[in-house]
Amino acid sequence: MSLPGTPPALPSGTAHSSLCPPGFAAGEHDPAAVERGRVLFAGACDFILGAARLEQIPESDLPEIAFAGRSNVGKSSLMNAILGRKALARTSNTPGRTREINFFMLGDRMTMADLPGYGYARAPRTRVKEWTQMVRGYLKGRQTLRRVCLLVDARHGVMKNDRDIMSLLDSAAVVYQAVLTKCDKVSSGQVEAIRRQIEDSQKIHAALFPRVFATSSRKGTGLQQLRAELATLVPGGDPVITA
Ligand code: GDP
Repeated sequence: MSLPGTPPALPSGTAHSSLCPPGFAAGEHDPAAVERGRVLFAGACDFILGAARLEQIPESDLPEIAFAGRSNVGKSSLMNAILGRKALARTSNTPGRTREINFFMLGDRMTMADLPGYGYARAPRTRVKEWTQMVRGYLKGRQTLRRVCLLVDARHGVMKNDRDIMSLLDSAAVVYQAVLTKCDKVSSGQVEAIRRQIEDSQKIHAALFPRVFATSSRKGTGLQQLRAELATLVPGGDPVITA
């Protein structure tokens, strides 16, 4: 893990540093990276299982990306949007209902983990404790985990419980990137202010990826760049070219 104050080392094999100038996401200047992302996420995606306990987490040797965020942040909507599906990840109207880590297989290339939402105001203390134990165990023990997308609602910015999970991710030495959701609901000035606030917090969050992604599932904003960035984490991510 990087020392505090320095950008986190990117996992080996990532194309990010070779494709983009510092501070830019893969795909922003590279149509090939966008195409790799499109091809990866257009492939078959199947639900594997929901793990309610650490022992139930499926074994895998594929690279994994995980999605985390407060209840109601727009996590199911974003996962469905990057996959171009309507309801693969459950879109729940009852914040805090989902208690399991849900695993998906993306075209035999990558696995995706949907972590249970946190920060539900009415969650009892024991429930928060269970969540923390389960997620901490997963983050510390998952060898294949390449990146966590930490979703932050652009209307609210980073809140106290987002900071708590950022510290958990720092201590687990798992690289995580902030993904702003619902950017259609706020001005571009507000998006930039939150982006700067998060990028500046790299000084205290050693495992924070140096680029914030701004998205809207509703408008489709930022999805290409996010797919392109995540596709850099899969070895041999080049699309198959057919004549
Ligand atoms: P989850 O609990 O984090 O899985 O959140 P959901 O995906 O269920 O979304 C929570 C609420 O936010 C729903 O009412 C969604 O329609 C809404 N939502 C999700 N994404 C967006 C977005 O990009 N823009 C807007 N305006 N609303 C969104």
